[in-house]
Amino acid sequence: MVAITFRNIGCKLNQAEIESMARELAGKGYKVVNFFKEADLCVINTCSVTSKAARDSRKMARRAKRENPNIKTVLTGCYVNYATLERVKGETEADLVVPNEEKNSVVARITQLFPLSSELYIGRGAVKLDLPLGHVRGALKIEDGCSMKCSFCVIPYLRGRYSSLPIEQVVSEAKFMEECGYSEIVITGTQISAYRWEKYRLFDVICKILETTSKVRIRISSIAPWQFDRRILTLMENEKRVCRHFHLSLQSGSDKILRAMRRPYTICRYLELVEEIKSRIPRVAITTDIIVGFPGEEDKDFLDSVKAVCKAKFSKVHVFPYSPRKGTAASAIKEQIPENIKKSRVKRIIEVASAYEEEFRNSNIGEKVEVVWEDVRNEQLIGTSDNYLRVVKSFGEISDVGKIEEVTISRNLGGVLFC
Ligand code: SF4
Repeated sequence: MVAITFRNIGCKLNQAEIESMARELAGKGYKVVNFFKEADLCVINTCSVTSKAARDSRKMARRAKRENPNIKTVLTGCYVNYATLERVKGETEADLVVPNEEKNSVVARITQLFPLSSELYIGRGAVKLDLPLGHVRGALKIEDGCSMKCSFCVIPYLRGRYSSLPIEQVVSEAKFMEECGYSEIVITGTQISAYRWEKYRLFDVICKILETTSKVRIRISSIAPWQFDRRILTLMENEKRVCRHFHLSLQSGSDKILRAMRRPYTICRYLELVEEIKSRIPRVAITTDIIVGFPGEEDKDFLDSVKAVCKAKFSKVHVFPYSPRKGTAASAIKEQIPENIKKSRVKRIIEVASAYEEEFRNSNIGEKVEVVWEDVRNEQLIGTSDNYLRVVKSFGEISDVGKIEEVTISRNLGGVLFC
């Protein structure tokens, strides 16, 4: 018996990949466990999108060995490509390092190197999980890579040009996820709006999953604002199983900076899209990413980002200080912004965005939302609404976890909505 634990650093695409590996290995008879101490093997999908993510990836690998000196570690993901195999091995003492382009072979390599009959097993108290990762909401990868070249982004160098998975494979994985007990599927990729398989686009992927499954609901992860398919809005208007949530990465509110970032839209077009979505889908969640301190970002450019936050009234803003990544065009720009300025800009955007996030939460009081219950703690059920809010119900049982329930929001207590 071999017990494996899985860790993910980084984006939802990484999450989708590691969950898919876990499902496949669990299906082959490997035991999926939660803790390093219980595991013979740890698979880590690393990230390198920022220097912090790269650092976290290294830390995670070292922590696994520290907590369980007998554990074997398998590292894959963007940090592996960013840092070169030799450096990764030296820095993390990984037992196996698999670059991104060979990621599809991780499961096969594990079954070869660590067969089920191997003597590796030292696990104590390994638990059988009802769901492959104990998850109610699971990520489904439909595409990988990106053919854009945003000047700050290292992903196209690490994951290559975009390539879509065959629609049949995507749909059958979605069906399998429903059979495994997932209640929500998050459609994921590096650039899912670029999905192309024969005549099929992202819209068709959603329709086909709806046709093939019966209960599971669907959430769309990050979608490119310049490649927005309005048919998805119509689908969302008519189909409750498509969650009212769009993640539209803004990155900057300044046209000058957007051009320098090589993002193919203007702030005006972006805000028009946000308005259109809001006018068609009541209380839709629109979340975003913003980078502050991009090279050459002057005070007035930063203020444009603040203004954009005020106009779009996002339900959640993820703010990142610009982090130069080796090999990207932006890292070579001379006018890099000092760290202290980046820090104060991050703080300012968070302050401004928090007020709108609270306004969005409050706009849901007295309204009905569909919640999937994900956990029960102290007899309280904790879940996520279709419009991406954390919701708590005062009384619940473990048997409620995984259920989707329509509830009315009654109050907001410190940023958490109660029903
Ligand atoms: S669209 Fe831009 S930011 Fe997104 S992965 Fe591609 S290059 Fe990176």
